[in-house]
Amino acid sequence: MKVKIMADCFCGANSSFEECCQIYLSAIQHAPTAETLMRSRYSAYATGNADYLVATTHSSTRKLHKKVAILEWSKSNHWMKLEILYSTETTVKFKAYYIDYRGKGQIHEELSTFAFEKGKWYYVDGEY
Ligand SMILES: [Zn+2]
Repeated sequence: MKVKIMADCFCGANSSFEECCQIYLSAIQHAPTAETLMRSRYSAYATGNADYLVATTHSSTRKLHKKVAILEWSKSNHWMKLEILYSTETTVKFKAYYIDYRGKGQIHEELSTFAFEKGKWYYVDGEY
């Protein structure tokens, strides 16, 4: 019997990155729910995928999120884990744990709002 070692996805799901968020990051499929999109966006931060983060930000707020800044923020922190506190159809409350560039542990807590448009979910904005 072949034992498959499965590392959990960055987003904390019980399946590997390849079987979880990478499906959305590589645009094989669109995230089917706001929570899946949120999880995949966390994995995008963890892997420095700024293109995905820009592409999944809603057109109404995209100009507020510069790609260079996203890339710098994702790369300067070490992403430890994501904790989903709750989610509804269009919102996700979460905590993202990371180590900042000074080596200090930080928690980013946010209530994010998402919108479904033309078959895809987008991140609109967040309160934190
Ligand atoms: Zn995942």
